[in-house]
Amino acid sequence: MNWRVPLADLDYSEEEEQAVLDVLRGRWLTMGSMTRSFEERFAEVHGARFAFGLSNATTALHLACLALGIGPGDEVIVPSLSFVATSNAVLYTGASVRFAEALGPHDLTIDPAEIQRLANPNTRAVIVMHYGGYPCHMEEITGLAQQLGLAVIEDAAHAPGARLHGRSLGTWGDIGCFSFFSNKNLSTGEGGMLLTGREDLAQKVQALRSHGMTSLTWDRHQGHAYSYDVVELGYNYRTDEIHSALGLTQLGKLAANNARRMELSLDYWKRLKDTPLVFPFQERAQEEGVLPAGHLFPVLLPEGVERQAFMDHMRAAGVQTSIHYPPIHQFSYYRERYPQVSLPLTEALARREVTLPLYPTMRPEDLDAVVDGCTQFFKLGHA
Ligand SMILES: *Cc1c(COP(=O)(O)O)cnc(C)c1O
Repeated sequence: MNWRVPLADLDYSEEEEQAVLDVLRGRWLTMGSMTRSFEERFAEVHGARFAFGLSNATTALHLACLALGIGPGDEVIVPSLSFVATSNAVLYTGASVRFAEALGPHDLTIDPAEIQRLANPNTRAVIVMHYGGYPCHMEEITGLAQQLGLAVIEDAAHAPGARLHGRSLGTWGDIGCFSFFSNKNLSTGEGGMLLTGREDLAQKVQALRSHGMTSLTWDRHQGHAYSYDVVELGYNYRTDEIHSALGLTQLGKLAANNARRMELSLDYWKRLKDTPLVFPFQERAQEEGVLPAGHLFPVLLPEGVERQAFMDHMRAAGVQTSIHYPPIHQFSYYRERYPQVSLPLTEALARREVTLPLYPTMRPEDLDAVVDGCTQFFKLGHA
């Protein structure tokens, strides 16, 4: 379908094309200077000590769990209102998940009180997810984690360039994981980055992303090493020079694009305020010290409004919408594995959620079309 207003769109120009051509003409495609530069620059922008370019955020989350030594018999607390990768990454290690509730209609991030409720002697870590690029309550979360002896992994797939009290999201916990999938704020097609401030974790990640090998292609190419050993079971979770070149170019646009996303969000909030829609994060966005990435524009329909009717109405107006997210614990695989889980608040919020289009190249007339679509829907007596 050719949408009049798509849910998301790339901000790509000649710069990205040139960056890729330069790599192709340089004839060095993996683990080279482009990946190094992207890692260094990404670390610098986020104020992190170590950065690792990876194949995607799912592999970043998997490596985060492995580097922390999480495995069979361990438990990790995860939000159910997230993309399934947040939870899958834990299960890959043989560990188990405990699903946590969201805070409520005005903040869809994990309820910090859930960490206390769900923690037990087997709990090793909590993964928090900065929904839509809005910060989780990191002071509370890191405080509780420290008290309970848990590691903190941040699923920062929505949140490159976002900050809380001057500190970048993805650098509050032990490890932060970012996604550069096509529809994310910084897009390279597939791609991811792992940040950590801990040298012990950095060494583990470095080895695990390349088969547990002791020396890498680049070093061998440079003549630093001619042989290698394999000291543990690792993976090939590396990125490559083409994706890194795209990432470096996109990183240069990130701050301005995040700011534009927030301008558009403010516009939405202002122009939709007379509809019965509820806006998660509108208050959070205005809080002192909160600099969101504005990845998504989620709305909650009033109780009793049929979501499919709303989405069909928007579709007829040429506006693409989506749902973030069907709760993970309600997917068939997870229901079979964890039949006892019930999260009434998350389930109720998720049933009402619709995501409206948001992307930095969105024009005023695109936003008009979305606002008109919403306004008309409720004028038709759907409230
Ligand atoms: C996109 C996304 C991921 C997975 O990212 P990939 O790079 O596609 O592996 C993980 N968590 C969240 C919240 C996401 O939105």
